[in-house]
Amino acid sequence: MNHENTSESVIIIGAGFAGLAAGIYAQMNGYKTEIFELHDQPGGLCTAWKRKGYTIDACIHWLVGSSPRSAIHDMWDEVGIARELDIINLEEYLRVKGTDGRTLIFYSDLDRLEQSLLAFSPRDEKPIRDFIRGVRMCFPFEQPSRNSPARKKLSVGLRLMWTLMTKGPAMKRWLNTSAADFSARFKDPLLREAFTQLWIPEFSMFFLQFTFSWLHNKNAGYPLGGSMPMSRALERRYLALGGSIHYKQQVEKILTAGNRATGIRLTNGEEHLADKVISAADGYTTLYKMLEGKFGKEETFRPYKEWKPFSGLLVVALGIKNPFENEPRTVSGIVFKLNEKVRVADADIEWLPVHYYNHDPSMAPEGKTILTVMLSSDYDFWKALDAESYKKEKADAAQKIIEILDLHYPGLASQLEMVDVATPLTFERYTGNWKGSFEGWMLTPSNSSYAMKKMPQQIPGLNNCYMCGQWVEPGGGLPTSVLSGKRLVKILCRSDRKKFKVTC
Ligand SMILES: Cc1cc2nc3c(=O)[nH]c(=O)nc-3n(C[C@H](O)[C@H](O)[C@H](O)COP(=O)(O)OP(=O)(O)OC[C@H]3O[C@@H](n4cnc5c(N)ncnc54)[C@H](O)[C@@H]3O)c2cc1C
Repeated sequence: MNHENTSESVIIIGAGFAGLAAGIYAQMNGYKTEIFELHDQPGGLCTAWKRKGYTIDACIHWLVGSSPRSAIHDMWDEVGIARELDIINLEEYLRVKGTDGRTLIFYSDLDRLEQSLLAFSPRDEKPIRDFIRGVRMCFPFEQPSRNSPARKKLSVGLRLMWTLMTKGPAMKRWLNTSAADFSARFKDPLLREAFTQLWIPEFSMFFLQFTFSWLHNKNAGYPLGGSMPMSRALERRYLALGGSIHYKQQVEKILTAGNRATGIRLTNGEEHLADKVISAADGYTTLYKMLEGKFGKEETFRPYKEWKPFSGLLVVALGIKNPFENEPRTVSGIVFKLNEKVRVADADIEWLPVHYYNHDPSMAPEGKTILTVMLSSDYDFWKALDAESYKKEKADAAQKIIEILDLHYPGLASQLEMVDVATPLTFERYTGNWKGSFEGWMLTPSNSSYAMKKMPQQIPGLNNCYMCGQWVEPGGGLPTSVLSGKRLVKILCRSDRKKFKVTC
């Protein structure tokens, strides 16, 4: 049994972005931390794996804060990622292809997007202009980097204040409108459906607009090399600051005595003690399993009963002997409307989203590319299958997707070199996330006003036990998880009467 008996020892559960960030900022502030991680590598959901020379990236599409002009970039600098990033900004966010042969392009540049949408459907001018105006309303929220001239900081600060004072009702309206609701305003059937394919139909429009604002300002670029180099950079930064990570160590319980957490117990029975415990792991497991539902108020558990998490994912990755050179380079790929519904695993799908990596040659051997199809998929469907049916369902799903893609890219089936299928159970196995959810809580009109108030990071009833990461930051995402770790260390410093500091 290991006991670090300094007054500052901190155990962190999970080496995802939130756990590593909490560790990095805690080390900067004199805490002695160790991280216990169930997997054998850092990054949590920000991950990738190799098959037959192809890299299957299960995360990064765009990184908010990729522009050195942005305040979020300062944070990427602090945690050691910025200096390793090689960012590209792509001209297109997404293509949506209808069954009528028309293709709608969602450009990253807002003026170009506005013009192309207006040209595509002039009769939808009103909702198009409303949407674009909503995106522009998000601009002042992008705060400048600390290196920006004072004049610029002042003017952006004033613009933000003005926006908050004058645009409150408009922001509230967008927050309370889902993408599905908004799409109903379009008359053109493809445009209408396309808006539900941009992100998740139930998601608040406000956050979709933020994405377009970041894309327009070249602040949501793609880091060449994908997810894993970012996770490794974060790990390096944490280790260089003196932290230690114990891989393949799954935490089973948070140990408590009265109103204090005293440490953790691993599934192998080992116990480790510390003065503070931070769970950066899945929220459901933390509250209901590690703490057996004994700590927390009604409010703490409410989201788990009432809110909607992001679903689990079925990910089919295909390694193709074709560089897809002549296909457009996009942030999120292309979505095809199918002529008729096709049953894939638990769902009848009408749309097939395809993400190919012709913009990142490091993801496939030379002259080839990798293509992924990600579909929402129900955890309970996969969980109920026995081992043989599970294997068969995976193979069937891949086969159906290959057949559909072969219609859109004739010859693709004969160019296949690698097929890999991941399910919500895969995500659960390697990251512990509840029902294989890929991003924690969705921000929908029904929870957004509550969620915007910020979920508490301290576990009620336990004075020295905290949470950070996507389960206390509705909407999820990499910057949010890192911010959550940073914000938590500020809370620790405040309660320990220390001045929070950042060392670069
Ligand atoms: C397909 C996909 C695409 C995405 N695209 C983007 C994108 O383009 N941009 C973006 O910003 N975000 C994206 N995200 C979301 C982003 O990856 C997550 O929101 C973020 O990584 C969450 O980080 P986290 O540290 O909060 O949680 P996690 O990454 O889930 O980290 C939790 C960590 O805790 C560990 N853990 C869990 N239980 C235990 C236990 N009992 N004992 C020990 N360790 C444990 C896990 O193994 C994991 O390492 C995407 C996610 C997916 C899956």
